[in-house]
Amino acid sequence: MPISPPDEKLLDLPSIELMELFGRIRYLTDKAGFSGTLPAIWQCSDESQSIKKALFGYVFNCPSFNLGRVGALLDPTRLATAAHHGNDLVIIGGSHLGAQQEDGIGYIERIHGDVAPCCGKLTRVLGEYLQLYQRATQLIKIFRAGGTARIEIPYKYLFSKPRSSTARIQIRLNRLVGGESTGEGSLGKIFPMNHALITDHPALGELTETPQPIGKRLTPDTFSFRKNLDHDSLEPLSMLEASVFDFFPEIVSSNQPHRRICDINTWRQFHRMASYITDYFDGSHRNIFVLAGLTIDHSVRHNSFVPQFGFWMEQGKALEARYFNTEQIHELLSKQKIYRPPVTFLEYAGIT
Ligand SMILES: [Zn+2]
Repeated sequence: MPISPPDEKLLDLPSIELMELFGRIRYLTDKAGFSGTLPAIWQCSDESQSIKKALFGYVFNCPSFNLGRVGALLDPTRLATAAHHGNDLVIIGGSHLGAQQEDGIGYIERIHGDVAPCCGKLTRVLGEYLQLYQRATQLIKIFRAGGTARIEIPYKYLFSKPRSSTARIQIRLNRLVGGESTGEGSLGKIFPMNHALITDHPALGELTETPQPIGKRLTPDTFSFRKNLDHDSLEPLSMLEASVFDFFPEIVSSNQPHRRICDINTWRQFHRMASYITDYFDGSHRNIFVLAGLTIDHSVRHNSFVPQFGFWMEQGKALEARYFNTEQIHELLSKQKIYRPPVTFLEYAGIT
């Protein structure tokens, strides 16, 4: 079993407007004695992330250093270069999601008027798995016969096939069925339903003799995915897929699968970042503050941010570095005042 990411409810806190967020981080890091601070950021390369990047630089009075790639993949090796460009480091990063959510996918209106999935890269990683799951929730049927609950599993889920370059859903038969097959259905075999499934879903008492799709009762513990992954690939799509693969059952069965893949990606990249910092910068006497979270794209120009994970290392003391969960990082930030840049954005950009 993979280590579980934090529960989705814990990560779903209100978002903060960017100037307030950056102002609070600036206040916090000024107070903590940060100096010669380089702002650095890992995020998707989408246009909708660019004003965020600009405002981050504005508040810290230094254009930000790029640590990320498309899909909000972190390239930790760039941190070594960033370290030559500043003394202390303030790093923010994470996935982004279009604020208009429909059927669990986030959308944004692009500059030419098209409404498109956002983050598009993560939608592409998600698509194959979400489709397999949704099809299974419709094809596996449940009904009542002879006074007992039954389940029909299509043959395509009963036969095992070798792992290939196309994803497959692997049903955990012992979690769904409660005994030997009792007959043939139109698509597959009929079994008594597993007792746990009946007790976990009391509404099953209302089953009729007409088969109905199992739907959301196909919970993450009842299936897994199989696919040959390319762990050595440096192509972003493959890297993203490999990084979140173990968590796909949880992602696709969420009511907000797009948001969930964003959050799990952020969680994975944040811990890559934190372990790189503790290994690489131990004893360097640097102050490093990292904030990871979800950027909500209201439009291509306007974002807000949900803080989710924090890391703070003072004076290069890796062993004493502090980690903040979502609730703790919200609390830490809410206690700070909001720093306001003393110059206008145009003045910051060198235009007087
Ligand atoms: Zn994106």
